[in-house]
Amino acid sequence: MDATRSDTLPARLDALQRRIRHSCEAAGRDPAAVTLLAVSKTRQAAEIRALAALGVTDIGENYLQEALSKQDALADLPLTWHFIGPIQSNKTRDIATRFDWVHSVDRDKVARRLNDQRPGHLPPLNVCLQINIDDEDSKSGMALEAVPALAAQIQALPNLRLRGLMTIPRADAADGNRAAFRVLAMTLSQLRHTIASLDTLSMGMSDDFEVAIAEGATLIRLGTALFGPRPAKH
Ligand SMILES: *Cc1c(COP(=O)(O)O)cnc(C)c1O
Repeated sequence: MDATRSDTLPARLDALQRRIRHSCEAAGRDPAAVTLLAVSKTRQAAEIRALAALGVTDIGENYLQEALSKQDALADLPLTWHFIGPIQSNKTRDIATRFDWVHSVDRDKVARRLNDQRPGHLPPLNVCLQINIDDEDSKSGMALEAVPALAAQIQALPNLRLRGLMTIPRADAADGNRAAFRVLAMTLSQLRHTIASLDTLSMGMSDDFEVAIAEGATLIRLGTALFGPRPAKH
């Protein structure tokens, strides 16, 4: 494989890491404070294995069945698995058992089920609340106004560890989603008055991660920019 070609995984990763570093420098931030989450929906286990060999070990999946088979195929690797898709409440057991993080908690019922189903031998499940920041009917996620109450409820659940907030802003905002990211960051800093341990702003995807880093993202979720265009949607 010729890593100098721009369409190889090592070359794409290298270019992305350079862009991440530049964004951090421009914002006066430490690049070590921004985690790259590789979003591997529709991608083969072999592609994740190749990425892990390059040092990327945080893996995000949207669809449970697809994720479980890749987890089985990659069980020998020290990967950190993040569930980032919509959660049906009848699917919480596998999520609670097989993942390290869940970014898409948006209601009390799901939080309680994840807590009750988290196996006792595992550390608490890391949780972000997904916010529907642009109030779009098509998106899952909760309203900003409801965040303090759900955050307080999750604080009382011993098998969950509330880490922060996640959002997927609209795809066509003229400001590159800067305003949406800023609102999420402000919401997290307000919540930190009561829950000081919150440390995660999961925001920014292939088309807007540089803006997200400027606005304080600590975890950016990259699919297309890392793996190339996704095959047809399933
Ligand atoms: C697919 C997906 C991503 C990655 O999107 P890209 O634009 O391909 O980088 C990030 N977050 C979530 C929740 C996704 O579903």
